Amino acid sequence: MAHTPGTLSVVSTPIGNLADLSQRAAECLRDADLVACEDTRHSGVLLRAHGIDTPRLSLHQHNEAGRTAQLLEDLRAGKHIAYISDAGTPLVSDPGARLVHGVASAGYRVEVIPGPSALTAALAGSGFPADRFYFGGFLPTKKAARSRELEGALGRDETSVFFESPHRIVATLAMVADLAPERQLVVARELTKKFEQFHRGTGGELAAAFAERPPKGEMVLVLSGASPPAWLRR
Ligand code: SAM
Repeated sequence: MAHTPGTLSVVSTPIGNLADLSQRAAECLRDADLVACEDTRHSGVLLRAHGIDTPRLSLHQHNEAGRTAQLLEDLRAGKHIAYISDAGTPLVSDPGARLVHGVASAGYRVEVIPGPSALTAALAGSGFPADRFYFGGFLPTKKAARSRELEGALGRDETSVFFESPHRIVATLAMVADLAPERQLVVARELTKKFEQFHRGTGGELAAAFAERPPKGEMVLVLSGASPPAWLRR
């Protein structure tokens, strides 16, 4: 589909399975004059896999301000720009907010092509209520701040979701075991990939399981809320 001149398309891309690029996303990336990518080499793999050879430009957290000004010039010249992050939905713990805000404020059209996100994929596989939820992004790396963040999440009635690193997950699960020993958790690992797994249990159970076999790969931690429905209580 041809785009109105001077459009920015914010496009979600796969979080591991290259086949998860939607047909509309592929058409948009092919149609664009330029694809702004968090990492041009990383996104090159996805684009090549779909036979897309649109020119790429890097746009990451360290150059977003400068690139926004530059892309506004391109939009002024009538170009169609697509923006993708390394994986999933841009702006969700990823750059892009400044770009989208800048483009919208300057009066250009912003279009969104929705698709995969580790946040929604983890929630969907968790089996925890998700009609309301809290998303905390990446858990803090410092122990005291992480503990405070977890304590806050464990006090909420709704489900909470965090991105976490495999290096810290065992320590984080042990913290949850101390703060709320009965709470049901899910660690969603390698979503959409060959070894996708949902590990379910309490903080103590999961910490013990992972202490024997340290987990690898990308992961999302989902905590059930402080007032779970009866069917979720053990
Ligand atoms: N914007 C992205 C999205 O919508 O999925 C998230 C970007 S954030 C920088 C990357 C984090 O998302 C990873 O550290 C991990 O916690 C989570 N993540 C990304 N891909 C994942 C996958 N395939 N399986 C599990 N977690 C994943």
